[in-house]
Amino acid sequence: MPDLFIGGEWVAAQVGGRRDIRCPADGRLVTTVDEATMADTVAAIAAARQAFDCGGWRTTSAVERGALLQRVADRLLQDKPAIARAESLDTGKRLVESMYDVDDVVAVIRYFAGTAGEDAGRVVDTGRADVVSRVVHEPVGVCGLITPWNYPLLQVAWKVAPALAAGCTFVLKPSELTPSTAILLMHILEDVGLPPGVANLVLGAGAATAAPLAEHPDVDLVSFTGGLLTGRGVMAAAAGTVKKVALELGGKNPNVVFADADREAALDFALTAVFLHSGQVCSAGARLVVSEAIHDSFVDELVARAQKIRLGGPFDPAAETGPLISAAHRDKVERYVEAGVAEGARLRCGGGRPEDPALADGCYYLPTILDGCRSEMGVVQEESFGPVLTVETFLDEDDAVRIANDSRYGLAGAVWTSNAGRAERVAARLRMGTVWINDYHPYVPQAEWGGYKQSGIGRELGRAGLAEYVETKHIWHNIRPAPQHWFGS
Ligand code: NAD
Repeated sequence: MPDLFIGGEWVAAQVGGRRDIRCPADGRLVTTVDEATMADTVAAIAAARQAFDCGGWRTTSAVERGALLQRVADRLLQDKPAIARAESLDTGKRLVESMYDVDDVVAVIRYFAGTAGEDAGRVVDTGRADVVSRVVHEPVGVCGLITPWNYPLLQVAWKVAPALAAGCTFVLKPSELTPSTAILLMHILEDVGLPPGVANLVLGAGAATAAPLAEHPDVDLVSFTGGLLTGRGVMAAAAGTVKKVALELGGKNPNVVFADADREAALDFALTAVFLHSGQVCSAGARLVVSEAIHDSFVDELVARAQKIRLGGPFDPAAETGPLISAAHRDKVERYVEAGVAEGARLRCGGGRPEDPALADGCYYLPTILDGCRSEMGVVQEESFGPVLTVETFLDEDDAVRIANDSRYGLAGAVWTSNAGRAERVAARLRMGTVWINDYHPYVPQAEWGGYKQSGIGRELGRAGLAEYVETKHIWHNIRPAPQHWFGS
């Protein structure tokens, strides 16, 4: 069966290309999928445009749109084992984590199902009895949705759910490395009765497939999640048609630990912050910024724990984390660590591939800690998107805030302290879209997610996440029109 979903039909790529999808845990062939080119994407945009301009989805009641999303969530739960398995095979992540991810996807979809009709607009008091003035919300139109490989279905859901809740149509281009769960989602959307052309799927690599989503005049919004450099390119390409742009980009997130923090909790979370999913998390706490007063014993203990992390494939019950997404990505992480050491960072653990022959066919990289870092170092400033922790120290509260903010990114960060006043002061001064106090990583669909500075533009989740997919219109209705004689005639 072909894998592109355009105008309600499953179709093959126009030039007939195919791509092998391999599991990064062991290199096994997972599936082969159609590889679209720009011509397919342009056809998908035309289908989405037609469905938006001439179809009934945009005028379907918010209640109905919400009900359809609830049916999608029900189906995802019903199919959870198969979806989680597909996600694990594409990404190499542990099955248990993929199962959590499906639960998160369901929560996100249910949240947007509930918000679909929440804010229809408002009546404005103009001070004139002959005028009815109101501000209404309308779907933004055709959306180009481009997503990465680290949380494939979750990143898709963060965009697809609000787009559908708002009444938009869309063309989705997931990462070429992890297309399987996006295909499954399209089947579910089709099964629950979404009208043809509302949801369209193209598969393929980068600009060769996705460029029209940023450039084409018939796309009203491009919402992109991925790396900083790609995001800059998408933004520049979108400028040609002044379309709306939403960007969720990278992060190099500080985890700030004061000497008065709960030591056990801070140690445990410092490990999870950076090594969860082998560091392939945009909000990974990849910069430990720790008080000079506790640095030595804190880092010694972290090193001891990092060395015990068990690597393994998706279905290995003993594994605690998995491989990197590809050999190319592991090469990048390796170069990044080498450059850090060359800059003067002290390698405390990891820094290479595991020796276990059972892992030899996978893209594994050992949990790595680089001590003695300073914020001006490249290894601190650049996102590795791998299991690599850099360690910096601070002297006092001002120093901690200065170091933590010394980054072009501003996605997320955490502060650990038992002093509530200090926690609030530091949280207020961190220039980041999310700040955790005495915690790391949790999020809820009700709260906005996104970046300050070069971590992005706009927000996903929460009310602002829906607002990205909404246009605002002021309708002024003169109910007693009469000549005004401005020009006297
Ligand atoms: P990437 O930028 O390489 O690719 C992201 C998507 O963009 C993929 O679908 C890719 O095919 C597509 N793409 C690549 N070149 C393109 C182009 N020129 N025009 C249009 N589309 C193009 O990123 P990745 O390696 O897939 O993902 C990792 C990055 O994503 C990390 O930097 C990570 O921080 C970021 N990320 C951010 C968030 C967030 O919420 N801020 C969440 C997850 C991942």
